[in-house]
Amino acid sequence: MKRAVFPGSFDPVTNGHIDIIERALLLFDEIIIAIGVNAEKKYMFSLEDRKRHLEETFANEPKIKISTYTGLTVDLCKKEKVNFILRGLRNSTDFTYEQSIAQTNASLAKIESIFLVSTPNVSNISSSIVRDIIRNGGDYRKMVPRSVLI
Ligand code: ADP
Repeated sequence: MKRAVFPGSFDPVTNGHIDIIERALLLFDEIIIAIGVNAEKKYMFSLEDRKRHLEETFANEPKIKISTYTGLTVDLCKKEKVNFILRGLRNSTDFTYEQSIAQTNASLAKIESIFLVSTPNVSNISSSIVRDIIRNGGDYRKMVPRSVLI
């Protein structure tokens, strides 16, 4: 059984994340969406809300599990006995950032990172842009799943 961890902050989950997850369902039998908890990071949405958004979005998808974690992603992978980390790439900035993380993770543990390039119509979306639009009272409805709006 092929399983992957999709780690991220999901603050909040966007249609860009969903694009990657739905396409990765063709590659993996199970995807664990792992919400990272970093004590040094300030989030807009609480951990409970971020988890609820994902649980509601994927309520009808038995191949997806939602979990939260602290510490290194490779340690979560070892604990869950998962050999693949899934990440999305929007542009060359993502690539440069992800390359060094993937190389580090591969050296820390025998874990392969698998990258999917985002679909063009969502490659402009990021959680930080959505947060900025929320802060400034703009319309972000087309960028996130319904669960983030309710
Ligand atoms: P992190 O803080 O770990 O970067 P994010 O929630 O911002 O967490 O992102 C998690 C993953 O989702 C990353 O691999 C990121 O590149 C990917 N991602 C985010 N937005 C998009 C998008 N619009 N298209 C494709 N991948 C995306």
